[in-house]
Amino acid sequence: MQSVPAEYATHRITEKNPLDLPAQIDIGRGVPMPSFSKEDVVNWQLSKLAEVCQYVQKNSAFYAKQFQSLRCNSFVSQKEFATLPRTTADDLKEAPFKFLCTSQDDITRIVTLTTSGSTGKPKRLFFTQDELDETVEFYDHGMRCLVSTGDTVLALLPAPKPDSVGALLADGLHSLGAIPVLNQNPDDVAASLALFTKHTPDCVVGTAAHILALVKLWQHKGGTISPVKSVLICWDTSSQAVREYIEQAWKCRVHTHWGMTETSLGGAVSCVHNTGLHLRETNIYVEITDPETGLLLPDGERGEIVVTTLTRKGMPLIRYRTGDEGHIMTGTCPCGSPLRRLSPDIQRIMLPEDAPEWFRHITPSVIDGLFLSEPNFLAQQAQYRMAPNQLEITIDTRGTVSNSQTSYNELIRNLVSPLPDAPVVLCLRGRNNNTISTGFAKRSIRVIK
Ligand SMILES: [Zn+2]
Repeated sequence: MQSVPAEYATHRITEKNPLDLPAQIDIGRGVPMPSFSKEDVVNWQLSKLAEVCQYVQKNSAFYAKQFQSLRCNSFVSQKEFATLPRTTADDLKEAPFKFLCTSQDDITRIVTLTTSGSTGKPKRLFFTQDELDETVEFYDHGMRCLVSTGDTVLALLPAPKPDSVGALLADGLHSLGAIPVLNQNPDDVAASLALFTKHTPDCVVGTAAHILALVKLWQHKGGTISPVKSVLICWDTSSQAVREYIEQAWKCRVHTHWGMTETSLGGAVSCVHNTGLHLRETNIYVEITDPETGLLLPDGERGEIVVTTLTRKGMPLIRYRTGDEGHIMTGTCPCGSPLRRLSPDIQRIMLPEDAPEWFRHITPSVIDGLFLSEPNFLAQQAQYRMAPNQLEITIDTRGTVSNSQTSYNELIRNLVSPLPDAPVVLCLRGRNNNTISTGFAKRSIRVIK
């Protein structure tokens, strides 16, 4: 993107999708197209896909080998592109430097993600300064769906370095004229509430667990009328029940963002109509695919989200398997944007291959929903670990209001008992006491088949 009209400098939330303008400028190669269609987006993406494939064939050791016998000069259709092999998280873990297309001197930021995969190796992703700038630009335009110039935004996001996600979001907010307030330790819910009370934010950004914990603590302290007009849930998948709980407690619009480090920390966000998440179509190309075959599925059908980066030079990714399941919504959003929409019910699908059927039903979103009715728990995040013949679920609760060991066990039993071949559940004691705790309490639940 190169030029933004001057009248865009002061922003008010409108019915239009603010992600349209940067896409119109990109597709117009620097000059905003007066209008654009879905077909314009598809044609532009097909030409960029050919460009990026030729670029990686030439510059990345991994793709030089992977695409050795393939012709990537042009793609006549999305179906043709979908015949290319996919890239997996294991490929990235195995040899991250083989994906690098530039000199290491051109890399401004390296993100290392620890993962629970079989190799235990971390994932490494490399970003150039231009790519970080693109992310800031996406945050600037994406946040225009939620806030106007002059609004205050409380972001519950870590920002230990100048180019961490919280810091990039703050840069994006500055450039649209909003005022960011950061809680860099979002696990500290008391600190979030102190900032909330002091700054009375118009908007709150964070994971579902962190925002839910703030809402519950705010309610516990007697909060009734909130200043919040909009909320953006990011990073985690979230359940409809959690989104509705926040919406009702604060009487605000709840938007969702989908993205991951592999998509340069940004991917899709819902517009003011909140009917699905508009994709950042000129930076990433998203396919919904059959997880087995990798073939393209039609809009409306659920499958694995596979991503190709269209503009990255440092470490482009081609047909990267995200491990997230979702679908593209059919029809047109009331905002009229031709940018496709991901349905907000995105879920992780990467489970151990030999996991029993019931294991698929106990997702973090399900557990989130279950604890909504339990005022003793501020919020929680569940993680799974597979050991031989045994599954372990670790749930981090963000503090408890009263001693609820018994009800906690019962809740988990109620959750799993209707499932076929119900597992035996052992709850291991975590930190718990009779007072409200806003620290980071941990519990382990061991599920033995
Ligand atoms: Zn829209």
